[in-house]
Amino acid sequence: AIELGGIRKSYGDHEVLKGVSLRVKQGEVCSIIGPSGAGKSTLLRCVNLLEEPDHGNMIVDGQYMQGGINHSRKELLELRRRVGMVFQSFNLFPHMTVLDNIVLPQRRVLKRSPEAARDKGRELLDKVGLADKADSYPAKLSGGQQQRVAIARALALEPSAMLFDEPTSALDPELAHGVLNVMKEVAATGMTMMVVTHEMNFARTIGDHLVVMEDGAILEEGDPEKVMSHPEKERTAEFLSAVI
Ligand code: ATP
Ligand code: MG
Repeated sequence: AIELGGIRKSYGDHEVLKGVSLRVKQGEVCSIIGPSGAGKSTLLRCVNLLEEPDHGNMIVDGQYMQGGINHSRKELLELRRRVGMVFQSFNLFPHMTVLDNIVLPQRRVLKRSPEAARDKGRELLDKVGLADKADSYPAKLSGGQQQRVAIARALALEPSAMLFDEPTSALDPELAHGVLNVMKEVAATGMTMMVVTHEMNFARTIGDHLVVMEDGAILEEGDPEKVMSHPEKERTAEFLSAVI
């Protein structure tokens, strides 16, 4: 589970998160939508401490963190191994094969043996439908395939939660489809997920909870179907009519 209490974050005098509180239950998929600049990416980055929140607190899979203090390297590593993140850009190491991309973090973070890391890597490549690409270099793969490798790489660390920041927005609809299917399968394994997305169909059908953010705060949240078809706020309705 992920619990956020009053998360605040400023860059200089620009307050980007204005006290966000949110609860994602174990095994739940929480979709986050909202206009550009709402603070969606910053919120995800706070959850795995790529950004340190200025105020507030978080409990991620039982690990308590207080905003406004710098966390030790040990705490950061512990958190990052529990929380996988997939970004809009694929961030694979270009000079390494697909399999080595998945092996490396397992070796570094989990200290797995080369054999165990390779076995796990092949198993996950098979799961994301890329068993035949193990020895290819990322540049030879489509964007959708690279994103599926990035998901496999994150899953290789056996995280208890996964964060996705617009993982399909750089992809053609056809390629996005393959990535969304993989995400759907990950969700079906009972993974706790936070997904920033423009894919309303994913949010509606796979998401358990929908959060609409605007201007650093939660505008509205609830059951995806309910929020999408009967938003309580005028602003939510306006935003939804622009994206659906
Ligand atoms: P988008 O839909 O465009 O991805 P977003 O909701 O993810 O938007 P964020 O990227 O979280 O929005 O940014 C929220 C605000 O914080 C924006 O005004 C942005 O310019 C600002 N911001 C984000 N990162 C930084 C940074 N490192 N330094 C300064 N300002 C930043
Ligand atoms: Mg963003």
